[in-house]
Amino acid sequence: MQQHSHSHRPKSEKLYNEALEHIVGGVNSPSRSFKAVGGGAPVFMASAEGAHFTDVDGHRYIDYLAAYGPIITGHAHPHITEAIIQAAREGVLYGTPTEREIALAKRLKAAIPSLDKVRFVNSGTEAVMTTVRVARACTGRSKLIKFAGCYHGHSDLVLVAAGSGPSTLGIPDSAGIPQTIASEVITVPFNDVTALREALERWGDEVAAVMVEPIVGNFGMVMPEPGFLEQLCALTRAAGALVIYDEVISAFRFHYGAAQTYSALPDHAAIEPDLTALGKIIGGGLPIGAYGGRAAVMEQVAPLGPAYQAGTMAGNPASVAAGLACLEVLEQPGVYETMERLATRLADGLSTAAGRHGIPLTINRIRGAFSTHFCGHPVTCYAEAQDTDGERFARFFRLLLDQGICLAPSKYEAWFLTTAHTESDIDHTLAAAEHAFTIMAA
Ligand code: PLP
Repeated sequence: MQQHSHSHRPKSEKLYNEALEHIVGGVNSPSRSFKAVGGGAPVFMASAEGAHFTDVDGHRYIDYLAAYGPIITGHAHPHITEAIIQAAREGVLYGTPTEREIALAKRLKAAIPSLDKVRFVNSGTEAVMTTVRVARACTGRSKLIKFAGCYHGHSDLVLVAAGSGPSTLGIPDSAGIPQTIASEVITVPFNDVTALREALERWGDEVAAVMVEPIVGNFGMVMPEPGFLEQLCALTRAAGALVIYDEVISAFRFHYGAAQTYSALPDHAAIEPDLTALGKIIGGGLPIGAYGGRAAVMEQVAPLGPAYQAGTMAGNPASVAAGLACLEVLEQPGVYETMERLATRLADGLSTAAGRHGIPLTINRIRGAFSTHFCGHPVTCYAEAQDTDGERFARFFRLLLDQGICLAPSKYEAWFLTTAHTESDIDHTLAAAEHAFTIMAA
């Protein structure tokens, strides 16, 4: 591993300047921009293998971005790569049903019992967007209650108070969303049952659904407080609305299943949603999304029911093959335990080092994923995540990057361990963090 040499990235800079001429903002997703961490050229990666990237300047990095979640088995995992090559050889798109779609649907159903029926789409955004349409079709109501700071993709309705991406760039609510649509969304603080109850009392008979990330991944990693999801489900159903879980990040991240079936959240029967949106990991790194739920709810969807949703690329054979291969890897014994062990060592090491240098740092870790918040208070809701030191994060981010440690360029995003990270990666990262904290404390 090269140390301290990564700050000279002339090829990335050249490519960024070229990209700025042709691609808006030089990036194809605003979360890739370095705007929130002091600006300048993002690193252009050339290749990736396991837990490592190589950039266009030849520098090697340890990757904790994991492409914002999907790359849980590390890059170019041989089993997934083989599945993609095989799928490509068989033809990349048919526009007809395929057998493997059934296999992936069965796997999802077996791991997440609230899914009686599923439908594959191309992204988490599409999956979430359609769950709202289905809930509206089921209830004949139009409003959505969501939680501040939860990000549910970039469709109009859910971009209100939408967490990591927009917040990083200081865009509270996107332009281009008509007031008529924004007025359909009610936002309440995460983990705040009283606020939810009040919102349902006021608007209950107009509310089609309450949508939540059952374990939050978009203003750091945040667990629901005990009883929060139970009460959310009970209050929502009492109001005649549907519960939608956005498990685009959380499904298969913490165990072989979803947050709704995770043993740290007790009483699964009481927290089961009506609809679930999925994405990221279930495509093994290729574009995918899926939504599903109880049969009676899903039967609202065309061709059975009146709620229309379609997709030329949906159920893409390569994505489905990659997703199946990825889940096969994750099903192996010990996989999540190993990621958790490494994440614990890393998070504890960061915490101890920051403490030693007198730098307040709150780390929220859930198994193999965690978030670092430069503050001296707990982070249990969006307001607390906002009230953290973004400049300090930016400094930390750059000091790590210049030593070959790659994080997401946002104080709200998580660090993700993969099955490819090793003890040696953790050693290097902790040494780099020690160096960073020393400079930051000086
Ligand atoms: N829902 C959650 C919880 C997410 O974190 C994301 C993306 O980060 C999405 C939905 C949107 O997924 P996609 O980027 O695949 O459209």
